[in-house]
Amino acid sequence: MKLLVAVKRVIDFNVKPRVKMDGSGVDLANVKMSMNPFDEIAVEEAIRLKEKGAATEIVAVSIGPAKAQETLRTALAMGADRAILVQTEEEVEPLAVAKILKGIAGEENPDLIILGKQAIDDDSNQTGQMLAALLGWPQGTFASKVEVAGGDLNVTREVDGGLETVKLATPAVVTTDLRLNEPRYASLPNIMKAKSKPLATKSPGDYGVDVAPRIETLKVTEPAKRQAGVKVGSVDELVGKLKALGVAK
Ligand code: AMP
Repeated sequence: MKLLVAVKRVIDFNVKPRVKMDGSGVDLANVKMSMNPFDEIAVEEAIRLKEKGAATEIVAVSIGPAKAQETLRTALAMGADRAILVQTEEEVEPLAVAKILKGIAGEENPDLIILGKQAIDDDSNQTGQMLAALLGWPQGTFASKVEVAGGDLNVTREVDGGLETVKLATPAVVTTDLRLNEPRYASLPNIMKAKSKPLATKSPGDYGVDVAPRIETLKVTEPAKRQAGVKVGSVDELVGKLKALGVAK
């Protein structure tokens, strides 16, 4: 089984985002960027499938600026075999990403494409679903368990109030949820080895995709500031204050 894994370079999850002064977006100047956490889980799952003997090759793909090479090198250091960077300085929306991934799938013929359930920068949660629709392939989204059963995949999904297991015929699209696995850290020797693994650079035009945005961001605002709390001396004082606020009787 050949696997394609989509990895996005996003603002690091530990960084508190700052909104630009003009409210046009999030300020990314001098901000630490990392692989989207759900995509680390996608890479880890691909590696585990290879370690189990269910997969033969893992190709990591990123669509983004030249610096997204670093994200791909991280995927290679974790255990991906080769990488493709589709380079563009434009901000690429989920539909354009899905179209590019469809183009790559046409060339690479993977049996399974693994994506994160959502990118933590735009929080769209759309790319995997759009990709499955464009390809006409079955999809297992929000996966918390992936099992290969013959030529099929059994994907356990986290749904409201429980788990659902679906059977997908390959080729298929899977998106990862938080509890699927715990991604490994790349070891220093593997980081060194990753430097010589193949990384091809392409452009959206190579796949005939126009990445011009279809959505206009009107305004981005910071969440309202929380008011400072008050320390109370006793439970009676707390209840008194809650009564005064009308929260308790
Ligand atoms: P989204 O629909 O934007 O929330 O993203 C869902 C998933 O699609 C991410 O977790 C990635 O696996 C993949 N993805 C989205 N944008 C990109 C990108 N620019 N490059 C590579 N993968 C992406």
